Amino acid sequence: MSADKIYMDSAATTRVDHEVMKAMQPYFSEDFGNMASLHSRGREAEHAVEKARRDITKKVNGKDHRLIFTSGGTESNNFVLKGLAFAKKDKGHIITTKIEHDCILSTAKWLEKRGFDVTYLPVDREGFVDPAELEGAIRKDTIVASVIHANNEIGTIEPVRELGKVAHEHDVLFHTDACQSFTKVPIDLKKDNIDLMTINSHKIYGPKGVGGLFVRQGVKLEPLLHGGGQEYGFRSGTVNVSGIAGFAKAVDIMKDKHVSHMEKLRDMLIDGALKIDASWLNGSRKQRLCNNAHFSFSHIEGESLIIHLDLKGIAASTGSACSSKSLEPSHVLTAIGLKPEEAHGSIRFSLGKESTKEEIERTLESLSDAVETLRKISPFKR
Ligand SMILES: *Cc1c(COP(=O)(O)O)cnc(C)c1O
Repeated sequence: MSADKIYMDSAATTRVDHEVMKAMQPYFSEDFGNMASLHSRGREAEHAVEKARRDITKKVNGKDHRLIFTSGGTESNNFVLKGLAFAKKDKGHIITTKIEHDCILSTAKWLEKRGFDVTYLPVDREGFVDPAELEGAIRKDTIVASVIHANNEIGTIEPVRELGKVAHEHDVLFHTDACQSFTKVPIDLKKDNIDLMTINSHKIYGPKGVGGLFVRQGVKLEPLLHGGGQEYGFRSGTVNVSGIAGFAKAVDIMKDKHVSHMEKLRDMLIDGALKIDASWLNGSRKQRLCNNAHFSFSHIEGESLIIHLDLKGIAASTGSACSSKSLEPSHVLTAIGLKPEEAHGSIRFSLGKESTKEEIERTLESLSDAVETLRKISPFKR
């Protein structure tokens, strides 16, 4: 980042790392082949994609799984719910939660209109899904339980291992959307009882428009895209070789030291921000993404706070990049029990591996100034 700009919106997207760009470059020019071709140019492309598939799969102990490359988290989430729903002869039941990303919720609603039943599990005050609630929701015709691995707004990391165990005890498939947690939280597909998992590249310094869906061998999915039968027949279309090579490099260069670096800065930001009068942290203090800090400030509009901080060169967000332009309170904040006026006074800071201590200090200073200024002019009674 340039010296005066502070980027605190890494949960929305990240810049492409230089090493990632370098890894992508050859596949735009000298190695431009189509991996479906039989000649050597095609084989180079195939080699790159298959190496990427192996390397990313290894990262999550996916010995029993296949990684299908897609255009991103949105496609993977659409694919998993629609693909499972339409692979069945009869209509059935889907379980998900109230705090999913919009691409799960909108897909679930779309399926409801087409005759499928959906249960949206509630969460507690910190955003946790209770495995007992999941168990209680399971029916004979339940197709899949889909629970976000770590929430994109409030950063809560769900107990996926326990949730997956409950699903499996009742012969229900378990899917998790790991777009926020992949490479930040250790994942073992086998031990964590995960049959299907969504990942993407642009939240971890890879290119936009690339993602994947892990599918346990033997799980039947109806494809969304029909054509040449690429990606084991699951996803037709010429494969995005450069994007996939970049995705694999992004996964490769994300290390534990980056996670602990972000954790340290996150805690500094949380401790500092909670010194501000009438403020609180949303989500869990302990089971929390290393780069997420999400606060509410009484008597303040989150949007005004973001504009104030933006004037000081600090980029933050109200939470979900997709719905931040709507005036509806966030469905996640509503689900954890915030009143609409409390939800509106909320702001998310999401750090990156390049964030610094100085940036946190400057952010805290600007934040407390902005809160003070806005409260002076606030129309809400104190
Ligand atoms: C960003 C995100 C998505 C959407 O991924 P895209 O690659 O942008 O389509 C889905 N789920 C979660 C939890 C996300 O954070």
